[in-house]
Amino acid sequence: MANLGIPQNTIEILQKYKFNFQKKFGQNFLIDTTVLERIIAAARITAEDCVLEIGPGIGTMTQYLAESAGQVVAVEIDKALIPILEETLSAYQNVTVINADVLKLDIKQIAEEENGGKPIKVVANLPYYITTPIIMSLFESGVPLDSITIMVQKEVAERMQVGPGTKDYGALSLAVQYYAKPEIVANVPPNCFIPRPTVGSAVIRLTRHQVPPVDVKDEHHMFALIRASFNQRRKTLANGLSNAQELHLTRERVTQATDKMGLSPTVRGETLTLAQFAELSNLLLEQV
Ligand code: SAM
Repeated sequence: MANLGIPQNTIEILQKYKFNFQKKFGQNFLIDTTVLERIIAAARITAEDCVLEIGPGIGTMTQYLAESAGQVVAVEIDKALIPILEETLSAYQNVTVINADVLKLDIKQIAEEENGGKPIKVVANLPYYITTPIIMSLFESGVPLDSITIMVQKEVAERMQVGPGTKDYGALSLAVQYYAKPEIVANVPPNCFIPRPTVGSAVIRLTRHQVPPVDVKDEHHMFALIRASFNQRRKTLANGLSNAQELHLTRERVTQATDKMGLSPTVRGETLTLAQFAELSNLLLEQV
């Protein structure tokens, strides 16, 4: 089968099947062989790997993955793409295509069945409308993961990588950095896709931490604190957290904990590091 990274080959297959792009599925197909090679290199795929691809589209990146990995499982929501994938991937015996919504699949079970529970690698040019839910569900559902290498909106990639003191720092930065080490590996302009997205894109690799980088007694409690702090970004931490009803905290309890940490009573949540959120969460749980 012809390499779909070459624009003419993609156009031919789209015309042959009279394919209509579905905006609601975030369909922007890659047509740049250099970018495709960069993604495969960044994901460090070897013949030992089982790769989960989310949203194979017409199978462009799937072809590259199938050449390098031991096994590829590709999950595509759009049933109109399934007959196309049958043709474009017909040369590969190591690819399984599943027609489903990835958010409704039990990925842990797939990793168990396809890779004996060993860590898988996720590689995807993600549909941008569900980037955050996909990443969070991969981390939170306990799927055995080695790394996630994904194309996302450039701004979202930056948000995942930054630390305190920048305007992009937020709940997503902290969640991603709790689970993984983020590294932006390429910036990708709109002309590498058909149709062209309205925003710039970037490839980011998230390498799963073997051991969490901070010692936290109750992850859910820490993430509830983080969400509440960034929901009320302009407020001091003590006001923001005491306003969040689900946390049942008073201003006094928060300031007692921030005092112990050597922080000012007017500190804002957006200046705290992941280690400080972990310490704050542990202290607040001890106080009861
Ligand atoms: N991998 C292809 C490429 O790079 O050319 C296509 C990438 S396109 C940005 C995103 C793909 O994800 C589309 O094929 C779209 O139909 C699929 N998709 C969107 N939502 C999905 C979901 N919830 N589950 C699985 N696939 C989805």
